[in-house]
Amino acid sequence: MPTIPGNINGVLIEFSSNVNKNVDQKIIDVLRHVLSTNLASGHILTKVYISSANDQHTFPSRHVQGAGKAVDISRINGMKMSVFYPSNSTVKAITDALQNKFESFVHRRENFGPLFKKKLGNPHNVSGHADHIHFSVN
Ligand SMILES: [Zn+2]
Repeated sequence: MPTIPGNINGVLIEFSSNVNKNVDQKIIDVLRHVLSTNLASGHILTKVYISSANDQHTFPSRHVQGAGKAVDISRINGMKMSVFYPSNSTVKAITDALQNKFESFVHRRENFGPLFKKKLGNPHNVSGHADHIHFSVN
């Protein structure tokens, strides 16, 4: 199983101590697809925080299906989405850009976060996710 690295496209990745970084290759591919320092124009993405990958969830969550098919991102540049998404223009712009960029990933499945909640590209009704982005793959 591949391991999520500590830097993708120049963006540092920090992890909660609970995270199992061994995941499906498509999760690595998602992160390569969405992460870049200039993702949101006028803002610089330096760092994201992964609060969950192949861990902390029970079946049928995509987090623990197969080799691990989901990832949660809860901080942008060290700032918690729960606190800063409503008030900080950089956190909002980058969070929104991550969710929008994910929609062009070929194996996209669930895209839940503060901006919207979509499954396979369609609006999806699910609770929570104001404080983190959840991406999963098929
Ligand atoms: Zn999740």
